[in-house]
Amino acid sequence: MNTRRAPHLTARLQGFGTTIFAEMTALAVRHGAVNLGQGAPDFDGPDWIKKAAADAIFAGHNQYCRSFGIAPLCEAVARHQARFYGQTVDPDTQVTVTAGATEALYATLTALLDVGDEVIFFEPFYDSYMAAAAAAGARPRTVPLSGPDAPLDAGALRAAVTAKTRAILLNTPHNPLGKVFSREELSAVADVCKSFDLVAITDEVYEHLTFGADHVPLATLPGMDTRTITISSAGKTFSLTGWKIGWAVAPEPLTRAIRTAHQFVTFCNGTPFQHAIAAALDADDAYFEGFVADYRKKRDRLCDALADLGFGVLVPQGTYFVCADIRPLGFSDGHAFCRRLPAEVGVAAIPCSAFYEVPERGAHLVRFGFCKRDETLEAGIARLRENLGKMRP
Ligand code: PMP
Ligand code: GLN
Repeated sequence: MNTRRAPHLTARLQGFGTTIFAEMTALAVRHGAVNLGQGAPDFDGPDWIKKAAADAIFAGHNQYCRSFGIAPLCEAVARHQARFYGQTVDPDTQVTVTAGATEALYATLTALLDVGDEVIFFEPFYDSYMAAAAAAGARPRTVPLSGPDAPLDAGALRAAVTAKTRAILLNTPHNPLGKVFSREELSAVADVCKSFDLVAITDEVYEHLTFGADHVPLATLPGMDTRTITISSAGKTFSLTGWKIGWAVAPEPLTRAIRTAHQFVTFCNGTPFQHAIAAALDADDAYFEGFVADYRKKRDRLCDALADLGFGVLVPQGTYFVCADIRPLGFSDGHAFCRRLPAEVGVAAIPCSAFYEVPERGAHLVRFGFCKRDETLEAGIARLRENLGKMRP
């Protein structure tokens, strides 16, 4: 976060500047670096889904649609929740289609949080959470997570609740740590929500990207369906991040609140892409299995190479990111390291400090993405092998 005062910007959004993803991608472009920073695949999703979007355009689905999403997509989201998690969702009253998970998060926090309310995040946290809470005038409180394998500290979570706490926002599988919350950990979160009458907001955009660990939606735990908002999107699952089709699934009273905010953020979005994603969500099991199998190979390849280079590797249980500790290489400031990496090594990564309320707490970690073609990953690894040793701490 930038500490210089930006002109024109409201007090609420001071310090947010330009996102770390944009900053590091710009450096990658400037230096012709292999971009293992921003989490965007350098390959497209399946042709049959792209064709479904093209067909929808030529079939004339090109105007505004119903604000909360076209009926076939709301129905497909409901079928998806039933198929993968046994969750019963009413497509008419419990689904809101948004411009990616980013808008779903923004609309949800704007709808639910009043000025002065508190919301609990697990730190590190995805960058948009803090900005969305700030825009609502709410105050975040953070509970630390230390790695993909370190258990959630339920005592710390309970201790973070105050009389002003309204919601807990949980991301599983977790970006950037790659942690997949276990059923036991989720039960502890559920207990806190029920004890203090809190709403749970879950960000599950990597729901189909877990390596062995089961993804469990918090909404499916006993007593949580009436107080959980489940947010996801099609971007990662179908390698179509630019389409920005996301959704929020929630009980009717919460859905009504989210829809009110959503109407005035985007009203509706991407009608033809909604038609294509409605078809995509019904993809057969082979698609989802092949997707994870491909990513598991990429994860293993990158993690092995980073370990070989001397990084301390936090092997992820989910997502397409791996966090690496730079201290064994003699570095201590991940932001400075990532600013030098594109020019000196020819690779871009993301400093994890951007995901911390207090950046110093994440200074030793940098994040590499493996949502890349095999040749891109190999090119990045080759450059790291060739040049990293020349970079002086
Ligand atoms: N949440 C997390 C944890 C993410 O990593 C991302 C983006 N990669 C988003 C939300 C935003 O998703 P979308 O592109 O669907 O807005
Ligand atoms: N979610 C992506 C990441 O974590 C970035 C999306 C964006 O650039 N806003 O890398």
